[in-house]
Amino acid sequence: MDRLGDILKQNWGYDRFLPLQREAMQCALDRRDSLVVLPTGGGKSLCFQAPALAVDGMAVVVSPLLSLMKDQVDALRTNGVAAAKIDSTMNARERVAVHQSIQQRSLKLLYVSPERIVQPAFMEYLKKAGVSFLVVDEAHCISHWGHDFRPEYRLLKQLRSAFPDTSMHAFTATATELVRTDIIQELGLHDPAVLIGSFDRPNLRYRVQKRGDLFKQVRELIDAHPGDSGVVYCIRRADVDDLCARLTQAGYKALPYHAGMEEADRKRNQEAFTNETTDIIVATVAFGMGIDKSNVRYVIHGAMPKSVEHYQQETGRAGRDGLEADCTLLYSYADFQLWRSIIEKNEAEGGDVALQKLQDMARYCDQLTCRHKALVEYFGEPFPSRPCGACDVCLGEVESLADAQLFGRSIVAAILDLEDVAGPTYTSLVLTGAREERILAKDHHRLPSFGLLAKHDVQTVRTWIEQLVNQGYFEKTGTYNILRLTPRGLALNRGEETPILTDRTQGRVRRPTPRRGAAQRVEADLASFDPALFQVLRQVRRAKAIELGVAPFIVFSDRTLRDMVCRKPLDTVSFLQVPGVSDRKCDAFGAEFIAAINAYCEEEGSR
Ligand code: ADP
Ligand code: MG
Repeated sequence: MDRLGDILKQNWGYDRFLPLQREAMQCALDRRDSLVVLPTGGGKSLCFQAPALAVDGMAVVVSPLLSLMKDQVDALRTNGVAAAKIDSTMNARERVAVHQSIQQRSLKLLYVSPERIVQPAFMEYLKKAGVSFLVVDEAHCISHWGHDFRPEYRLLKQLRSAFPDTSMHAFTATATELVRTDIIQELGLHDPAVLIGSFDRPNLRYRVQKRGDLFKQVRELIDAHPGDSGVVYCIRRADVDDLCARLTQAGYKALPYHAGMEEADRKRNQEAFTNETTDIIVATVAFGMGIDKSNVRYVIHGAMPKSVEHYQQETGRAGRDGLEADCTLLYSYADFQLWRSIIEKNEAEGGDVALQKLQDMARYCDQLTCRHKALVEYFGEPFPSRPCGACDVCLGEVESLADAQLFGRSIVAAILDLEDVAGPTYTSLVLTGAREERILAKDHHRLPSFGLLAKHDVQTVRTWIEQLVNQGYFEKTGTYNILRLTPRGLALNRGEETPILTDRTQGRVRRPTPRRGAAQRVEADLASFDPALFQVLRQVRRAKAIELGVAPFIVFSDRTLRDMVCRKPLDTVSFLQVPGVSDRKCDAFGAEFIAAINAYCEEEGSR
């Protein structure tokens, strides 16, 4: 008998495990400590929630934020799982109720904050309560090297000695080695199984576009997603307020979020987003963790973030449900300069390391490599070289400069002139005719290629070289990144190849067609998808959510709703077959959704 499989089907309505979920669940069943690293949307919660139902006792989950605890407990309860949280917002009556269910041993999952779990009296209480296993969610918060360090997570050190015989399971989406080692050490994990998933997010469609008229561009991107939830990131608070005001004035349902606002206002805006009374959040980096909302359909960056790590984090909030989502970065070289001045002014930003990360981010924007490949490889994971079907580069949306071949051949000429002795920067200087001392000293100003690209600035030529390296015309070798031609580079020299080159912040001119054309790497039978019915079911979902006091995505995810639209179930048996419909949800919501589908189909039929 496949106990976990049955639990997955009954309580969540899913037929299949996502990658590494089963392995992660097995660790909890085997009482073996584990560290599980999966991307956002990778399905980490189920990795501990499903086994909690398969074993005796109550699993205790440490989570950093009240909003995360609430969403997870709401989601579990709507699926009929006995779950609760203990936090400071609860009144005496609620506390007593939780206490009673713990005493009766009926609770399967208990969510608590790190501060609470380490209170000596509470630990004693838990020891007598029959804890099955311990879970530390968002475990990167324990590490200084992560992006969300929380001092209170350090207290979790004490758990190991307080619960020497209880297995501990840590979960995070932060993949770096430093953070991983930190988590294992700080929590005192004992010979943990370390499970690391792939960080590619195939359902996200990445694009980089030159920023011109920010407001106009943002509007167009939003208009491609009517009624959907989306996030627009800006660098500064003033930019947030300004853009948000303009959007509101133009009739969009948008709210701001940044650290300069009152806590209560931020909370209210976040809730409005979760509950879908607003469509758009315009935010600084302050907005992020604490959002488990699974149906964010687009993330727009109004400016370049300061590192690829930030970009990955922020875009990661889109498409957690596995359905496609659009991530568009509007970029201008001015962003680079703004960040550089911020970093240089602010020692706390970390100086050289921060500048290096900033450069990496700018390179990501400028280069013409598949975005999925670039992102995944940045984090040290290999990615096959084939078109991903889900980024501007692979979709052929990037338009090349008219003179790309001429420029490419000029660069090849310089590499040949310099006879395998120069790196990208030096080569760019020679090509642009820079009369630097080191060039004059070596007589390189007499080379035929000296000044061939004098009309262009060094940074541009430097970017083209990177683009050509990425397209395999030459490679960087040795510690000094000496440029060397490849066979493809020789073909370019003979005029047999035409590379793709763009200006650093230009060239992305062809208007992409959102939603259409992209080879979607998510399975969904879109042929039978009827957007009008989707909107009808959204309304039913919304009404249910309000009635229950939970967020709409907790009733059903967008993905489940979409499958419902494609399958049009008209009875309970077929309703139960829709992925994401658990036994409990079928009982609680089935009748209403089936009635709505039925009414819609009849109306269609009578037309
Ligand atoms: P993470 O914590 O890793 O970011 P979540 O646990 O929030 O991810 O899960 C993301 C989404 O994936 C949720 O909507 C969840 O219901 C869904 N999900 C989880 N496991 C499965 C599965 N086996 N099949 C289909 N959907 C799943
Ligand atoms: Mg999670």
